[in-house]
Amino acid sequence: MTAFAAVDVIRAKRDGGALSDAQIRWVVDSYTRGVVAEEQMAALAMAVFLRGMDARETATWTGAMIDSGSRLSLRVDRPTVDKHSTGGVGDKITLPLAPLVATCGAAVPQLSGRGLGHTGGTLDKLESIPGWRAALSLDEITGQLNTVGAVVCAATEGLAPADRKLYALRDVTGTVESVPLIASSIMSKKIAEGSAGLVLDVKTGSGAFMKSREQALELARTLVGIGSAHGVATTALLTGMSAPLGSAVGNAVEVAEAVEVLQGGGPADVVELTVALAREMLALAGLSADPARVLASGEAYETWCRMISAQGGDPSASLPRPGHVTVVEAPETGYLSALDAYAVGVAAWRLGAGRARREDPVQHAAGVRCLVKPGARVSKGQPLLELHTDTPDAVAGAREALSGAVEIGEHPPAPEELVLERVAP
Ligand code: URA
Repeated sequence: MTAFAAVDVIRAKRDGGALSDAQIRWVVDSYTRGVVAEEQMAALAMAVFLRGMDARETATWTGAMIDSGSRLSLRVDRPTVDKHSTGGVGDKITLPLAPLVATCGAAVPQLSGRGLGHTGGTLDKLESIPGWRAALSLDEITGQLNTVGAVVCAATEGLAPADRKLYALRDVTGTVESVPLIASSIMSKKIAEGSAGLVLDVKTGSGAFMKSREQALELARTLVGIGSAHGVATTALLTGMSAPLGSAVGNAVEVAEAVEVLQGGGPADVVELTVALAREMLALAGLSADPARVLASGEAYETWCRMISAQGGDPSASLPRPGHVTVVEAPETGYLSALDAYAVGVAAWRLGAGRARREDPVQHAAGVRCLVKPGARVSKGQPLLELHTDTPDAVAGAREALSGAVEIGEHPPAPEELVLERVAP
């Protein structure tokens, strides 16, 4: 690999130039090995934040991060297809989606993370099921993909180690919110998983990482461009996240809601998004099954039970229940015109459902149940939200997070579309 002086690479980007493929590969590799110093990478990340990277640079940067570790090689008989969400409040879609798409004939390797901040982590949710185990070996992952068709487990250490190091640096240098850096971070991990197809659920709204629709669209286009450049069939849906998805926000409460959906019930928005994403995944996998029919039939629930049992969980065990439940009531009569997703996410987090530091534990039973969805007519004093926790001292902080989260108007609000736009190569 050709060597460069880190300061020349920093200067080139600082002055608005495009980096060559060789410069990018060298700087990412050298940073991962500790040859390029943290302060040099911090300066380069800030230069990228301010100057951006074009599509070629972003695809090469992603490739360099993939090459910093190993790629999973999945020996599976069925077409492989995965989904990634940029994160939202009450976003439990992976739980019904993975077994649904597997029931329709694809193999779904979902390597997931734990939650940090106001959006929950899929592994934290599944760990509320007694006995369920997140850590699987590569043999266990491929074995389960061949027998059950779906795996949701912890990402292995060797996937894109450059991203782990760079993400920690971006977090403390004000360089997280850069579209090329976010997109290469997400795609390096997803492409390293070795799935042939990938569907991205890019959220926009108060509870999303990307608050504005324009930013979310730019991210979606960049993600799809990277996937295509790396030979992964990729599409994205831009979806709304101004109110929580479904009724449950937390860990065990979200698992319970996912099970309702798998049994043919559950909130309409969770069903709609699960089916929309399943259609995209099945199209990429070249399969023609109708996911709406399969979901309504309850067949995907059987796959869920096998998926949970294969990882040591007991799908029929009772889920943890909170020690303390408080109700938030409607302050007046009218139509619930807004229920702010970000505020509900922060409240659930303060109740114990999320963590502030990576090493913190989460409470399985903590969270929020939204008893009423935006658009509904409510009466003064009617229960709107249930706050669940094992630590009653946390309730005051959750209530504070919720001040201003509920808006009640005289007229019903205009209905908001859930799926806003589709992005394809
Ligand atoms: N999620 C990621 O994986 N990386 C980012 O940079 C932002 C969100």
